[in-house]
Amino acid sequence: MSLQAILDKEFLEKEDIVRLLAAEGDEKKALLNKALEVKLSRLDNYVHLRGLIELSNVCRKSCLYCGVRRDNDKVERYTISEDQAVECARLAQQLGYGSVAIQSGERNDPEFVAMITRIVHRIKEIDNGSLGITLSLGEQSEATYRQWFEAGAHRYLLRIESSNEDLYYRIHPRDERHDFHRRLDCIDTLLALGYQTGTGVMVGLPFQTLDILADDLLFFRQKDVAMVGMGPYIPHPDTPLYPFADQIPPAKERMDLTLKMIATLRLMMPEINMVAATANQTIDPLGREKAITAGANVIMPNLTPNEYREEYLIYPDKACVGDKPEECFSCLDIRMKAIGHEILYNEWGDSRAFLKKKRTEP
Ligand code: SAH
Repeated sequence: MSLQAILDKEFLEKEDIVRLLAAEGDEKKALLNKALEVKLSRLDNYVHLRGLIELSNVCRKSCLYCGVRRDNDKVERYTISEDQAVECARLAQQLGYGSVAIQSGERNDPEFVAMITRIVHRIKEIDNGSLGITLSLGEQSEATYRQWFEAGAHRYLLRIESSNEDLYYRIHPRDERHDFHRRLDCIDTLLALGYQTGTGVMVGLPFQTLDILADDLLFFRQKDVAMVGMGPYIPHPDTPLYPFADQIPPAKERMDLTLKMIATLRLMMPEINMVAATANQTIDPLGREKAITAGANVIMPNLTPNEYREEYLIYPDKACVGDKPEECFSCLDIRMKAIGHEILYNEWGDSRAFLKKKRTEP
């Protein structure tokens, strides 16, 4: 079948997906153009913002790719104060971002759980609940997820990292803290609780194949998630996966593959929210713009107080670490206009796929 015929299909099968992910040259361009066309027709040219607060790099896990893994003792651990977190959210509100996303290393002690609940409550008090709240705080019990949901968080991001169990265990230790099936269960719990649930994978990992990446996209569709985040894997020198860095495609290819993943998923799930991850910009100065024109519609500008950012390096050379929030703000607006997109300020920017599903459920 010609690539054009695949692009015109209503429903993509696995073999179609693999074919799209392998597209190069004019075929790749055709895929990216089609994804942009689908996005513009279904979601318009709007880009939604979530002001990112990297709350803490304290982590109970030791993921083999992640710079802030528990066993990396070169990292100075920090947790920003409740007041500081709320201040960041206030800034997000003043800048018109409409939403915040709170991300952190994984902690599940009662103090942490209670602190998040209080922070969510306090953020909800800003301007009468005008800010949307996304959490990205790892694996938690159902009771914790429920408590945070009831406090007012309505979106949750938990990347599966890889939907392939073998690959999952090649990039995570095989122990009770890193359990593929528990991560899957967490995603199911989040969906059942009514969160707009997001998941995702890193692209360009060692041992990853197009076949596995196609299965990742099928996994997102099968779970019918509301949001997806996919970004290129960036080897971190202080991690056990680093020695495999010579076995992965070069940065440009990882970027291209990420764009093809985003574009293909936009065809499969036309109305979900998809983030243009900061990792894209780290390996390509125009990476976020490229992700947006390949079908993404969300950007997460960093609002973490600058003094902590150097310690939240999940991967090296992270983009915008030195930027002040206000600089990010005008920079993004100009960058989005330059590619014919418009930031939608002061709105939560919920996933249209999720809102539609909610309306049709009994
Ligand atoms: N503790 C939270 C947040 C993790 S950080 C959780 O477990 O969900 C957010 C994401 O950064 C991770 O899900 C992972 O996909 C990505 N990430 C981590 N290390 C990375 C690396 N070296 N390169 C690219 N992305 C990375």
